[in-house]
Amino acid sequence: MKVLKKYFASLFMLVIFEAVAITLWLTKGNVFYLFNFSYIGLSVSLGVFLFIRKHKHARRIVQLLVGVYMLIYLGLICNENMQIEGFWYYLFTGVFEAATIHYAVAKIFGPLVFGRGWCGYACWTAMVLDFLPYKVPKFPRRSIGWIRYLTFAVSLVFVAVLFLAKAGSIERIMFWAFIIGNLAYYGTGIALAFAFKDNRAFCKYICPITVFLKPMSYFSLLRVKCDTTKCISCGKCKRVCPMDVDVTDNSRKRKNGTECILCMECVKNCPKDAL
Ligand code: SF4
Ligand code: SF4
Ligand code: SF4
Repeated sequence: MKVLKKYFASLFMLVIFEAVAITLWLTKGNVFYLFNFSYIGLSVSLGVFLFIRKHKHARRIVQLLVGVYMLIYLGLICNENMQIEGFWYYLFTGVFEAATIHYAVAKIFGPLVFGRGWCGYACWTAMVLDFLPYKVPKFPRRSIGWIRYLTFAVSLVFVAVLFLAKAGSIERIMFWAFIIGNLAYYGTGIALAFAFKDNRAFCKYICPITVFLKPMSYFSLLRVKCDTTKCISCGKCKRVCPMDVDVTDNSRKRKNGTECILCMECVKNCPKDAL
């Protein structure tokens, strides 16, 4: 019973993902969903298990397991464009499949439960960016977050034009858009990380998906909270946070609250176990 209590969060994640896997498998009549969400659920559950056991690389292990699977298997082998363009594409075709389901679960409705867990544990762009040397930003945040709305609009207009122009072999175009889009993301993300001395600069200023992620994660059920009776205001949690979140403020309006990627660096580093 004690073991069950200790690893409850790990089992809980497995059950949630299995519920999604089985529901989609039965409703869509496609066994792929059972395999896909079971694999992701097992990876996430393993990560939570390792985190509870205080494994140093728990988050990175999940990030690699899920990120490589989505980029290589789903993207390159199965030709599924899981970038935002793929989402628009399926939305315009009226098909509730692949990228649309992925976005609904990971980036639109899921964040109401697990916030920006996607960004901390599954995103294949951040999977690479997190290898770079600037794990904690060296400079204060810049006011250029508006760029995300521009990239969001560009992705939407790109797919809309393809449909309006009735472009031929649109599926082929989407495959190449996935390859070129990813290369552009990696190139820009790495360049920005070095220019701003911040691994997550791309996430903070450019990524179009944050247009969905930020407002939804504002209401997230899962969030790091501070026990103010234990906190000694040493500021260590803010110094180790890659996303500049003021985690000692428990209100939903905390500074950069919708940027929290649940990486747990603040929790690991708090000297008073206040988080
Ligand atoms: S903000 Fe965008 S690039 Fe960064 S981790 Fe989240 S989805 Fe990935
Ligand atoms: S690291 Fe812990 S004790 Fe220090 S300010 Fe943050 S929550 Fe408070
Ligand atoms: S360090 Fe804490 S507040 Fe900052 S992103 Fe990670 S979990 Fe969120």
